[in-house]
This record gives sequence, structure tokens and C-alpha cells, in this order.
Amino acid sequence: MPDSPSELAERLRLKPGKRVRLDEVDPDDTLDLPRKEQALRALEKNVQHIAALQERLFAEHRRALLVVFQALDAGGKDGTTRAVFSGVNPQGCRVTSFKAPTAEELAHDFLWRIHRAVPGRGEIGIFNRSHYEDVLVVRVDGLVPKKVWSRRYEQINRFERQLVDTGTEIVKIFLHISRDEQAERLRDRIATPEKRWKFSPDDLRKRAQWGDYMKAYEDALRRCGTEQAPWYLVPANRNWVRNLAVSAIVRSKLEEMDPQVPEPKWDPSVIVIE
Ligand code: AMP
Ligand code: MG
Repeated sequence: MPDSPSELAERLRLKPGKRVRLDEVDPDDTLDLPRKEQALRALEKNVQHIAALQERLFAEHRRALLVVFQALDAGGKDGTTRAVFSGVNPQGCRVTSFKAPTAEELAHDFLWRIHRAVPGRGEIGIFNRSHYEDVLVVRVDGLVPKKVWSRRYEQINRFERQLVDTGTEIVKIFLHISRDEQAERLRDRIATPEKRWKFSPDDLRKRAQWGDYMKAYEDALRRCGTEQAPWYLVPANRNWVRNLAVSAIVRSKLEEMDPQVPEPKWDPSVIVIE
């Protein structure tokens, strides 16, 4: 078992610029974690640490953390958000889900809607999908010419660098599921009335493009994996592995940021409340 959250996170972090072959990465990998029961306890502990660190980040009001989730349909973006951020104060946390752009959004550059959703000082921002859709679905479906999407990797890197330089730390997480696991989850969504709203017939069209998506993801991971805004590749067929891994990534990032509660500008020793 990797001893600490930071060791687990380190193991999942992709080396900047290195090529990944997704068909060689096992989505069923249990990362040498102990049994599920122990992993759930470790998750609980990470969730508590994340909550305490977020309180300090909020009080410090100097920096922000942006957590980007990308995955194919049924990849577990919603479930991970629920499991990992269940302890945090909603006041300091903002989740944004990016859908197909509106007419107004399309009238602007692709980063316009993204920049508006970036967390402010003291906040944790969670992106359920992101600007990466603009080099994923947009590339696979040919929604803009190659000449346009191929320049976006560099534009994304510059944008993210600017955010990091101005106090917004970024972690980007790809939840990696297998094609068989996706089939099972989509079947479950159709079979369970309470889950049907999550299914869209368009999911099947995208499923048929699996190979193209893998290629597009491999390029995004390689070309936009940078020192300042690294990608993490999380095996996500098993929810308990995925949740523990993501909680470790977020916790260790916050620990590295080490937010500090500000010192009061007054002297507590001379204040008397009558
Ligand atoms: P869901 O996450 O299941 O609610 O689905 C959101 C849908 O919006 C997905 O099919 C995405 O591929 C799509 N989407 C998100 N961003 C973009 C974008 N920039 N261009 C086109 N489609 C997008
Ligand atoms: Mg969906």
C-alpha cells in the first residue's frame, strides 16, 4: 500500500510531455491498496483533511484550487465529486458542469466561459468537464477544423500557466474506465428508472467513437500535461479505488499549498468583551 496520500498522488501523476498508451493502463488496477474496507476508512480520513484544509484556504483568501475532472460518459465524474467533497463547506466550493456551449458562449473564444467559472480567492472550484472538451468532443466530431483545434493545446497551456502564475493551483484528473465497464454502467442507467435521466442516446454515438476518444485523450494528456498543471490518470473501474485516489490527489495538493489562517490585525491580548 502506498503509505501516504502524497505517495499515491505521485504515482498517478503523469510526467509532463510523456506519451501515455491508454490501452496499456489497466482501469481495474487496485494500486496495491489494501482491502476495500481499509480503503474506505482512508477515504474518510482524507475527506476530513480536505474539509479542514479548505477552511484554512477560505480564511487565507489568497489562493484558489481548481480541480478538473474529465472522463467518458459514465466515467464517474459526479460520483467522485460527491464522495471526495462531501465534507467541504459549500460556501467555499463551486462545481461547474460544462455542457455543449450556448449560442452566447459560441460567440466568444472557447476559454471565455471557462475563465468566468474559475474559482475566486479562497475557493475550491470543481470542473465537471472543462475546456478539454474543446480538444475532445470538438475534435472527434469535427465541430471546428483541425487547424483550429490543433492550436488549442498551446492556448490551453498558456491559459493554465496564467492561472497558476496568479494564484490558482490546478490539478487535472482523468478517470479511466474500460469499454466493458462503460457498457455495464450505461445498461444500469437504462434499467434503473431513477438513473434514466443520466442517459442520453447520444452516449451510444460517442461510445461508437471509443478509439477516436482514446486518441484524443492521449494527445490532451501528453500535450497539456505540464509541470505547473499536471494530469493525473486514475484507474476508475472500481469506485472505491477511484475515490481514494482522487481524495489523495486533492488532499496532498492542499497540503502542499499549506494555506494559513491570517493573523488578526489587532492584539487579542488587550481586547476585553464586557
Ligand atoms: P453530461 O456531462 O453527461 O451532462 O453531458 C454534457 C455534454 O456536453 C457531453 O456530451 C459533452 O461532450 C458536451 N460538451 C461539453 N463541452 C462541449 C463543447 N465545448 N463542445 C461540444 N460539446 C460539449
Ligand atoms: Mg452524460
